[in-house]
Amino acid sequence: MSERKNDGFINYELQEFKLFEPLFKWARKKSLWIVAFCTGCGGIEMPPLATARYDFERFGIMPNPAPRMGDLFLITGYVTPKTLKRIIITYEMMQDPKYVMIHGSCPINGGVYWDSYNVVKQLDKYLPVDVAIAGCMPRAEAVMDGIMEIMRKIEDGTADGWKRYRENYEYYRKNQDELFGEGWREKDARRWLAWI
Ligand code: SF4
Repeated sequence: MSERKNDGFINYELQEFKLFEPLFKWARKKSLWIVAFCTGCGGIEMPPLATARYDFERFGIMPNPAPRMGDLFLITGYVTPKTLKRIIITYEMMQDPKYVMIHGSCPINGGVYWDSYNVVKQLDKYLPVDVAIAGCMPRAEAVMDGIMEIMRKIEDGTADGWKRYRENYEYYRKNQDELFGEGWREKDARRWLAWI
């Protein structure tokens, strides 16, 4: 049996976990709990997904606003620096493995707000993104297709943004600090999270 590292994370590379990894991947893909950050217009496509028309609960998916228990972080529209701070803190509160899906052209490239002074144009500079659904706004069918895509990626192990965030933390942190100014966590996040 391999040694356990006491670094605060569960090390999924451990031999005993590797044996069960296909089962874990299947279970993760079949029980996605969504933390939805419904900024912008795209959030309006969520009710058809959750109700009788598409009924995403039949795939084991359900909305769960508690970041500690969510797996899939869904960001549904344009992001401003003010909302991005909340998004980053929420993402960091979610436990690994976690997946990010962005929805609409705005978080991909600024969309119709590409020239705006107050819209973040490329969300993937600040957080790792696993699936991006283009469109303004993408219909519920496209969002369902994105969910199927992330399920496929979980199963084949390519939904690995949570690992990339850890491995490239300096890169993401540098971009975050350039946008918000150094020390923003201490100044701003402390107001929401007492332990920072
Ligand atoms: S992509 Fe279009 S629908 Fe989505 S938030 Fe931007 S403007 Fe709104």
